[in-house]
Amino acid sequence: MPESVAPKAKSLQRVLGANCCSGCGLCASISESGIEMTMTADGFLRPRQIAPVSTQVDRLIADVCPGMKLTQTSREGDDHPLWGPIVSLRIGASTDQALRHHASSGGVLSALLQYLLKSGVVDYVVQTAASDQAPLENVTVDSRSHDEVFRAAGSRYSPSAPLENLDHFLEQPGRFALVAKPCDIAAARALARHDPRVDEKIPLMLSFFCAGIPSLGGAQAILDRLGVKPNDVNAFRYRGDGWPGRATASLKNGEERSVSYAVSWGEILSKRVQFRCKICPDGSGGFADIACADAWHCDENGYPLFEEDDGRSLIVSRTGRGEDYVSSAILAGAIAAEPFQINEIANMQPSQARRKRLVLSRLLAMRLLGRKVPRYQGLHIGLAARAASAGSHLRSFVGMMKRLGIWRRSHN
Ligand SMILES: Cc1cc2nc3c(=O)[nH]c(=O)nc-3n(C[C@H](O)[C@H](O)[C@H](O)COP(=O)(O)OP(=O)(O)OC[C@H]3O[C@@H](n4cnc5c(N)ncnc54)[C@H](O)[C@@H]3O)c2cc1C
Ligand code: SF4
Ligand code: SF4
Repeated sequence: MPESVAPKAKSLQRVLGANCCSGCGLCASISESGIEMTMTADGFLRPRQIAPVSTQVDRLIADVCPGMKLTQTSREGDDHPLWGPIVSLRIGASTDQALRHHASSGGVLSALLQYLLKSGVVDYVVQTAASDQAPLENVTVDSRSHDEVFRAAGSRYSPSAPLENLDHFLEQPGRFALVAKPCDIAAARALARHDPRVDEKIPLMLSFFCAGIPSLGGAQAILDRLGVKPNDVNAFRYRGDGWPGRATASLKNGEERSVSYAVSWGEILSKRVQFRCKICPDGSGGFADIACADAWHCDENGYPLFEEDDGRSLIVSRTGRGEDYVSSAILAGAIAAEPFQINEIANMQPSQARRKRLVLSRLLAMRLLGRKVPRYQGLHIGLAARAASAGSHLRSFVGMMKRLGIWRRSHN
């Protein structure tokens, strides 16, 4: 009796129909070549079914896809309604000044990765880096040396699908650290419930606070602002080489053109973030072992300043295992860090705090319009919502109704 197949995987139709795919790539990895990731016309990485998949695979995708379902079951540390599980909290930076300068904030993620490689905890690192062929775009790389990790440092504000080839890495000999967006890490954790290789092969999962993935059109709009044609670009950095650092296009003629972070993120990229990110309840990487963020300095009103300075990372150990590696990296002198208070994170990360508080009203608007909504468990969206005013909820509810009205019209 042949195994039943799904010529059109229901799991994909559901998540794509709700516009809730975050582009992690896990469905492609577990699809036995039935699904591939492609760049869509609107500049996002999305799955495309190219062959039937078994109903078993379809069911697995439905269970692990982070677009429609997130289930936080961690019991480690204190579980904060806004910031998720926290074992310890610090502010710090890489002690390697070149890395600190080159990386996104304080270079702590890369310093930890180099420490994990050097101490033999992992054989390699699966992470995101600039594509050599298309400098605005990203590729998933397996970094095996100090220098390869250095080269991949820095935030890339464009689509990435770090789990697209996860199955391939799980089949290879050796253990690896996975660095990925919070939703990617949540997907990898969900897969661990079905596939024991995930826990065997990945001793550490690292993430960062994530405000959302902008479309590739965002990077193209930066080039327009710089008066640069895509074909003239040799390399492109979204930030880094300073904190926050400038979005910089290095041209084939040797010239460099750049814009500030306030312009690149504030005026261009943040306006082009994919829909799923608007209702993200875990932008702070609660499923990771360690999550880092920008430890912005704030003005007298508590609002973050984006002036150039020496980089600083907020370092959140979310599991005991994560904390063991952060403290041993400090002891080994790879990073320098000081303790930090949980009630100060909201000042440093006002957009993250605001989004978490308003997720519930946005989901209610979706439901009222008959849209499918993701199921979030253990993420305290109800508790977080209590901290927002009725006026903020009303504005976010109305904003979502308007956004969905526009989306529905443009897709009919
Ligand atoms: C899309 C996006 C949104 C972000 N939003 C916020 C935010 O709201 N608040 C905040 O404080 N910080 C945010 N950051 C994170 C922040 O920019 C820094 O990455 C973080 O402070 C860690 O800095 P670091 O110097 O320790 O990292 P680095 O040492 O520079 O290492 C960065 C790591 O991130 C990986 N990476 C880079 N881009 C991507 C990508 N697109 N997908 C997957 N992995 C990637 C790299 O491979 C590298 O391992 C965001 C980053 C990204 C990519
Ligand atoms: S969120 Fe990930 S698993 Fe879900 S459909 Fe998109 S790429 Fe596939
Ligand atoms: S904001 Fe949330 S859903 Fe969007 S890419 Fe980041 S972690 Fe994923």
